[in-house]
Amino acid sequence: MVINLGKQHSLLSNWVSELRDVEVQNDRMRFRKNLERIGEVAAYEISKTLAWEEKEITTPLGIASCKVLQSQPVLATILRAGLGMHNGLLNYFDKGENAFISAYRKHHADGSFDINIEYVSCPELEDKVLIISDPMIATGASLVKAIQYLKEEGVSKEIHIVCAIACTVGIEFILREQPKATIWCGDIDDEITAKGYIVPGLGDAGDLAFGQKMQF
Ligand code: URA
Repeated sequence: MVINLGKQHSLLSNWVSELRDVEVQNDRMRFRKNLERIGEVAAYEISKTLAWEEKEITTPLGIASCKVLQSQPVLATILRAGLGMHNGLLNYFDKGENAFISAYRKHHADGSFDINIEYVSCPELEDKVLIISDPMIATGASLVKAIQYLKEEGVSKEIHIVCAIACTVGIEFILREQPKATIWCGDIDDEITAKGYIVPGLGDAGDLAFGQKMQF
């Protein structure tokens, strides 16, 4: 399932437009903050779909019957571009467990690339809700590979994928590989370049958030 949060005419679309805007996106602090805010809104929307239970809470004046989350999700992100969104998700799911995975594109001379994963840190996943963030879903290859690695820590009962912009081919690929996953995105673009950049997209989310890196 795909849920395009940008269709709801909310502040979230404003933040996506600032992420895209060449006049605004070079303000790195604002760029990171906007990714964080999108992560927060996604966390709130996802929370409405999770399992809740009633709990009696003692107040200074009596007993209140309150709703609390049945279990805490595992929040996973792909380094480094996902860190801002991850922070937003963690601001709301503040008791959640955390997983981090590194994934980068190893480019070849002919323009093609492989996804290399060198670092995984993940709690037990069996029967838990997994929420994985990556601001840009282009081909979907790194996300699918990351989920395959995380699955070695157990089979989660639900997978939610959070991104700012998703490309149609990436969505199709992910839903083919992970048909039960729900993708929560801020907007959807249809084009992708030969180098795997989304068009119109926003450019390189990791560089915009943290500065340019050396290419190896
Ligand atoms: N990653 C990015 O940062 N931007 C894209 O357009 C695609 C993948």
